[in-house]
Amino acid sequence: MDCLFCSIIKGEIPSTKVYEDDATYAFRDIHPMARAHVLVVPKCHVTSLADEVPDEVYTACMHTCKKVAELEGISQSGFRVVSNAGPDACQSVHHLHFHILGGQKLSESMA
Ligand code: AMP
Repeated sequence: MDCLFCSIIKGEIPSTKVYEDDATYAFRDIHPMARAHVLVVPKCHVTSLADEVPDEVYTACMHTCKKVAELEGISQSGFRVVSNAGPDACQSVHHLHFHILGGQKLSESMA
């Protein structure tokens, strides 16, 4: 299966790592939409939140989102977690991922 984020996790495509543990990988978005913009992905391939996401995978991702916010120094200033699922959300990479955005005042809109 040809999946961009699986290739990044395997190190076949370079990325700027922010954090890694047994179940998750976090790296900088190549086109940052905020001063801090990190992607958190599970190491196992899951397409999106619309897919079957095992509880332990979901929990591991949420822990890593919180960890990344701490590492980026944005826990207290505030941050947003976004996961696009499916065409109406304009999901472009079909491997579950969470955008961690912060480091500046974000827009009041949802995106
Ligand atoms: P989404 O549109 O929610 O599917 O988000 C996919 C994200 O992956 C976008 O914000 C892209 O900028 C980001 N992206 C695509 N290719 C790479 C890459 N090679 N390294 C880091 N981020 C990437």
